[in-house]
Amino acid sequence: MRERIYLSSPDVTEAEEQALARAISSGWVAPLGPEVDAFEAELADYCGRRHAVALSSGTAALHLGLITLGVGPGDLVLTSTMTFAATANAITYVGAEPVFVDCDATGNMDAGLLEEAFERCAGGGQRVAAVLPVDLLGKVVDHARVDDIASAHGVPVLADAAESLGATRDGRPAASFGNVAAVSFNGNKVMTTSGGGALLTDDAHLAQRVRYLATQARQPVVHYEHTEIGYNYRLSNLLAALGRAQLARLDGMVQRRRQHRLGYLELFDGVAGVSAFGEPSGLAGGPTHDNWWLTSVIIDPSVAGFAPEDLRLALSDADIEARPLWKPMHLQPVFAGARAVLDGTSERLFSTGLSLPGGSVLDDGQMQRIHAVITSFLEGRRATR
Ligand SMILES: *Cc1c(COP(=O)(O)O)cnc(C)c1O
Repeated sequence: MRERIYLSSPDVTEAEEQALARAISSGWVAPLGPEVDAFEAELADYCGRRHAVALSSGTAALHLGLITLGVGPGDLVLTSTMTFAATANAITYVGAEPVFVDCDATGNMDAGLLEEAFERCAGGGQRVAAVLPVDLLGKVVDHARVDDIASAHGVPVLADAAESLGATRDGRPAASFGNVAAVSFNGNKVMTTSGGGALLTDDAHLAQRVRYLATQARQPVVHYEHTEIGYNYRLSNLLAALGRAQLARLDGMVQRRRQHRLGYLELFDGVAGVSAFGEPSGLAGGPTHDNWWLTSVIIDPSVAGFAPEDLRLALSDADIEARPLWKPMHLQPVFAGARAVLDGTSERLFSTGLSLPGGSVLDDGQMQRIHAVITSFLEGRRATR
């Protein structure tokens, strides 16, 4: 039977199996244990941060990041409209309101529109308590500009680096930016713990507070004493072992995704009306590069003669998953009525973009299968024009 090809499936090997077996036989199954401590140290080191706190999801990291930055009921958080719902959901968990900011052609928050969002929010009686920019599809935000604007307004930055672990900007790793950064180890991300995430920061006090809140806000006494509401958000020792094995392979997995990107660029080279999304991405190396989480193309139907949906359906018929870019948050029914500062870019990317399979687990045979379907689709289109 033909196997379905997904956008980004987990890439696990014998190394991960052995790591899990090691954690089980050590007796430290759950909840915490030495694998968690080691994973946190290795992750902090990889991201160029003083502290990492391993958590049950990237969403949990965003939630605790907002709490520890002091964001609360009635506050405003300026965030990217071009993102996965988890970013905006976390803002509502603390009783704050998202204000959605449009993106530039890279898909990341437009710094000029962020400035405008600050102006529009001024004097409305609600304070802007944080800026929450998202590294879209593996490309790190222009933090030099975004963080400058935030700090000029005296507002902290929570970086959503859930999609960008392994990428760099100006020689600095993803998740090294902002007062706090959140990463995700969900099953479809560049590396996975099957489910999990982490919060990264250089602030020791903040990291300690996140650990405490993530373990039900238990006071350090033998009986269970609580003075605040806490959460059950820590990563288990078994999953941390899985994470350590994945982290050791991360650079190799990122390079594999880069090869897939290069292959797609070659495939679409010279195809009128189709361009690679998010270029340039440091494909030749250098201090700024993607982790190439997903490769997406932007299709202009009036030039290409076909719509993104036509290509998606052709791939789907061949059991290959492809999907549009994130549907912007300001278009989501659940956030209808939320404030937004827009210039149409995210809506254009949503209607013209298509993400293609790019997981590091995909082998040469599977990539050839995808390329063959796309090639024959393009040839069929040419023949009918
Ligand atoms: C995946 C993702 C998250 C959430 O991470 P989980 O680990 O699935 O909770 C948050 N933000 C963005 C942009 C994501 O892509």
